Parts: sequence; structure tokens; C-alpha cells
Amino acid sequence: MIIQRLAVIGVGLIGGSLARALRQGGHVADVVGFGRSLGNLQTAVDLGVVDRAEVSVAAAVRGADMVIVAVPVSSIKLILSELAPLLEDGAVVTDVGSVKGVVVQAAREALGTRFAAFVPGHPIAGAEHSGVGASRADLFQAHHVILTPDDDTDPAALARVRTMWQATGADVMTMPIVQHDEVLAACSHLPHMLAYALVDMLVRRNDHRATFDLVAGGFRDFTRIASSDPVMWRDICVGNSEALVRVLREYRDNLDVLISAISKGDAKRLEQTFARAKRARDKYIKGDG
Ligand code: NAP
Repeated sequence: MIIQRLAVIGVGLIGGSLARALRQGGHVADVVGFGRSLGNLQTAVDLGVVDRAEVSVAAAVRGADMVIVAVPVSSIKLILSELAPLLEDGAVVTDVGSVKGVVVQAAREALGTRFAAFVPGHPIAGAEHSGVGASRADLFQAHHVILTPDDDTDPAALARVRTMWQATGADVMTMPIVQHDEVLAACSHLPHMLAYALVDMLVRRNDHRATFDLVAGGFRDFTRIASSDPVMWRDICVGNSEALVRVLREYRDNLDVLISAISKGDAKRLEQTFARAKRARDKYIKGDG
């Protein structure tokens, strides 16, 4: 047994999936869930995701040797401030927030002397659906989980969180905080911005009904992630604004080059650009990039 009592603060897609995976594998003895709405918590109990639900942070973390904070990024600091004085000796706290710089800063301020027990984490797995109803035991299998320990992070706490994620079938790696936020801005945050911006642009056009009636596979593939939770993505933009703005500007510059090639009828340049992108995607999607 890796964990005796797991407290899941925010029993949604990610918190619920982690609880399911650990329970299914027999890695946790007892799971306690905390959230704001009784309806969601009752669903979590009914689905067998948690053993019991609590409506106070104090009751949820009592006796817990592992606390996972799986709420939107903007709520993490408040939750950590509340639970800081309540943590059991030796308990480890981790999070799953999609940005790490602001979360680590918030954790340092909120946890004070207990900061060493905090292990920042981010599973690179998810879905465009939210809530405990969308949670799955296999969500993290064969997916990366990035841990971004700080110099002050207790190595024993880091080892426990690594073991926990490995038990879900995830491939765990560590990365510096700044690198995490830069890389994720490019490979995750930017595509979400493009999907949201495209759908939002089209829906505001007069002919949007005709456009959406004709959507084909490519549009569905490209815009699937525009169905993601707006609160989560608001928080990611606010929390990783510098890196995200940099990569959005880089993308805009590349679009300008494309616009210029199209308007000049520069067929050679267009074909070269598309061929380079196709080669790269074909290679990386096969996993040998
Ligand atoms: P979710 O399905 O909406 O779950 C969030 C849960 O937190 C909900 O059950 C919500 O329940 C609860 N909650 C929200 N605010 C709260 C608060 N102030 N106090 C206590 N509970 C609160 O969202 P998610 O997709 O699991 O995302 C959770 C975290 O995972 C986010 O930080 C996100 O950045 C990160 N993440 C998400 C993905 C993804 O693809 N979805 C991937 C990797 C990481 P109530 O509303 O009932 O309180």
C-alpha cells in the first residue's frame, strides 16, 4: 500500500481519475474527497471514486498522509493556505495545476514552513470534459507526469509523489519550473488558444450556421479542445501569460509569412512549408522524434 489516506481536494476529472487509478490498483487504503458542491461529491461517492466526502478542508485532510490539490489554478493558493496549519506530520501535498511558476510561488507563500512537503506536479493527460463523471482509472496510463520540484522540496516527498504517479501507469519526469511553463505554452496552451480563437471567430460571422453545418473531420480534430473548461483555460492564460504571449506572437509572425506567401501566389514556399510540417508531424506522432 503506497498511501494510507488520500485526501482529494477537488474531485473532478483529474482528482477523480487519480483516486480511481490508485483504488483500482490497490495502492490506497482510504480516499476522502473535498469540493464545494454536495452534488458533485455525492456523485463521487456513488461512483466509488472516494470512500467518503467532506465539506470542510479540515475534515478532509485529517489523518491524510497524501493530499492532492486538483482544483483550478486560481483556487490553489486559498486551498493551500487553509490546509497548511492542518497537515499531519509527515504528510505530503501535491497539485496537478497546468502551470507551475505561479503555483509554486503561491505554495511558498501559503505553506510557509511546510513548503518542503509540497511537490508541484502536472499530469500531461486530460480531456475536454470536466467533472468526476468524466474521470477514468486509465487516464494517466502511458502518459507523462511532470514534477517540478524546487530546491527546497523534500526529496522524500518527491519520491513519494513519483511512486504514486508511477502506480497509475504514468511515466514520471522532473523538469525545471520555467522550462515546464515554456514548453507547455508551446505544445498545449498555444493550440488551445488557436482552437478557441478559431471557433469564436467563426461563430461571430453571419454565415456561421452554414459553416458549422458543413464541418468535416479536420475541423472537428482541430477544434475538439475548444470544448475545454473556460475557467481552467482562463487560469492557465493568466498564470502563464508571459510565455504564452511570446509563443502567440511567434505564431502570429509565422501566420504573416504564410499570408504573404498565399497572397503572392508563392506556391514553392507554401509547398516547402507544408512538407516540412508534415515530415515533422509524421515523425513526432510515431514517437520517434
Ligand atoms: P474539473 O473536472 O472541473 O475538477 C475540478 C474540481 O475542483 C471540481 O470537482 C470542483 O468541484 C472542484 N473545485 C473547484 N474549485 C474549487 C474550490 N475553490 N475548492 C474546492 N473544490 C473546488 O477540473 P480538472 O480538469 O480536473 O482540473 C483540475 C486541475 O487539473 C486544474 O488545476 C487543471 O489546470 C489541472 N489539469 C487539467 C487537465 C485537463 O485536461 N482537464 C490536465 C492536466 C491538469 P465543485 O465545483 O463541486 O467544487
